[in-house]
Amino acid sequence: MPSEFSPRWAELLASAVSRPGLLLEAYRRFHGYSLGNQCAALVQCHLRALPPGPIATLQKWNTLGRSVRKGEKALVLCMPVTVRVRDDAASPGPSGPAQLKTVFVWKPRWFVLAQTDGPTEPPPLPIPAWDEARALEALSVRRIPFAHPDGNVQGYANARTVAVSPLAQLPAKTLFHELGHVLLGHTTDPAADQPELPKSLVEAEAEAVALLCLEALQLPGAEYARGYIQSWYGSGQPLPEGSAARIFKAADTILRSGRAEAPPVAAPERQAA
Ligand SMILES: [Zn+2]
Repeated sequence: MPSEFSPRWAELLASAVSRPGLLLEAYRRFHGYSLGNQCAALVQCHLRALPPGPIATLQKWNTLGRSVRKGEKALVLCMPVTVRVRDDAASPGPSGPAQLKTVFVWKPRWFVLAQTDGPTEPPPLPIPAWDEARALEALSVRRIPFAHPDGNVQGYANARTVAVSPLAQLPAKTLFHELGHVLLGHTTDPAADQPELPKSLVEAEAEAVALLCLEALQLPGAEYARGYIQSWYGSGQPLPEGSAARIFKAADTILRSGRAEAPPVAAPERQAA
């Protein structure tokens, strides 16, 4: 059944870029979910004038002693679904070879606290702290000493190493930008079947990753990253859907990697890419 709200990553990213504070609120409210789902949940709360709060499935609310009010419509989030794919679609016999494949689909299954009734409220989630050393280790990225003769260069990335100039104006922004290049695959040769991205798109993607990370963690530099991406949008080139999906995934991976707690694995906390 088609859902009324069918988000596109490019639109969610455009919302996060054009509305300062949206990503921060989404991260604070919904950080147990993937960054893309955080944005999707918050945008839907805003669209329906629902106060953002804890979200859970109907079954989960029931186990927490709360019930979803009659007539409430579920929020749509992206979740992984395992499907069987036959090698030969022409012979769908029960004995035919089948492979399991994970696909990502939008499903209406989640309700926000304000859509539920019950005697107790769940305790607020603490905001997880982010640690650079932990993130770099989890990402298998090494920070190397800056060795570039040009004083205007803020940082660079190569393979799985990043360098940030000791004179960088916004060191956190530069670090996340360079980590963005690594996680987006810009520092490795593109696969044979993938076209090489234009340089301007490569830079906009890395800067968008920096923007999402800086805003989620409330670090300085987000407004500069925002200005850069808005000027890019202003040139009449909205970031394409594929880029937006990869940007959300890269920023989500960076944020998760630096957290103290073990990364959650249960659905729907993974995200399409
Ligand atoms: Zn760059």
